[in-house]
Amino acid sequence: MPRLRSIATRGLAELSALTRTGRPPRAGLRILMYHSIGSQAIGDKLGLYGVAPARFAEHMTALATATGVKTAALSDRNATGNDLHVAVTFDDGYRDNLLVAAPILQKHGIPFTVFVCTAFMHDPSGNFLTPTEVRELATLAGVTIGSHGATHTPLTGLDDRALREELVSSRTELEDATGRAVNAISYPHGAVDRRVRDAAAAAGYSTGACSRFDINDVTRDPLLLCRTDIHAGDSGHVFRQKLHGDWDWYKWRTRDPAQ
Ligand SMILES: [Zn+2]
Repeated sequence: MPRLRSIATRGLAELSALTRTGRPPRAGLRILMYHSIGSQAIGDKLGLYGVAPARFAEHMTALATATGVKTAALSDRNATGNDLHVAVTFDDGYRDNLLVAAPILQKHGIPFTVFVCTAFMHDPSGNFLTPTEVRELATLAGVTIGSHGATHTPLTGLDDRALREELVSSRTELEDATGRAVNAISYPHGAVDRRVRDAAAAAGYSTGACSRFDINDVTRDPLLLCRTDIHAGDSGHVFRQKLHGDWDWYKWRTRDPAQ
C-alpha cells in the first residue's frame, strides 16, 4: 500500500506542478536533499533515494545552467535574500558521494555538504565513507562535512543524556577525522522538535537541516532549515520544477518543526 499511496501522491504533485508553470521562481535558500548516487540507500523500500549517476549529472547540469539561480554553501546566511540560491546536501555518508557525486559537482564548481552518520563510517559493507575518505572529502574545495548523528537513531525519542551523547560524540568524531570544525547537522529521519533543536544549539551546532519540504526565507531558524527532497525518478523536467518551487505544496505532507 505505501507504494500505491506514493504513486498517487506523485501523480497529484505532477498535476499541481503543471498548474504553477510560468510563475517566477520563489526566492530564498533552497536546499536540495540527496542520499546515495548510484548505490542502494538504507531503508529505501520505495527506491526513492538511490539516484542514478547519469540522472544526478543531468540534475547538476540543469542547476549550473539555470538562469537566475545561484549555488550557495549551506551556511551562507546571505543566500536567503531576493534571489534564488540553491545548496546541495547528502544524508548518511555514502561512499559514492566521494567517488561519483564529488567529481560531477567539482566540474560545475557547485559547493555541497555531506552529513555523515559516524557509526556508518565503521560499517563493513563498503557502501559508506570511511574516516579516511571523510577526511579526503573535507579537503575538496567547497565541501562541508556535517553530522547525521552517531547511530542514525531518531533524536526525538531519546532522553536528554542520550540526545546530548548523539550530538556531541558524532561532532567530535567528525572533527577528529577532518581536522575541521563541524557545526552543521541533518537530523536523522528528519526527527526534530524544539527540545532537539535547542540541544543541537547547546552542543555547538549553528546550522540544522530537517526534512520539511520547502524553501527558506530570511526569517527561517537556521537550526530548522527546510529542504527539497530529490527522488530517483525525478527527470530533468521535474528537477527544474522543484528548483522553481512548483512542488512546494508537498510541505503539507510533513509537520513543520518550527511551529
Ligand atoms: Zn539518514
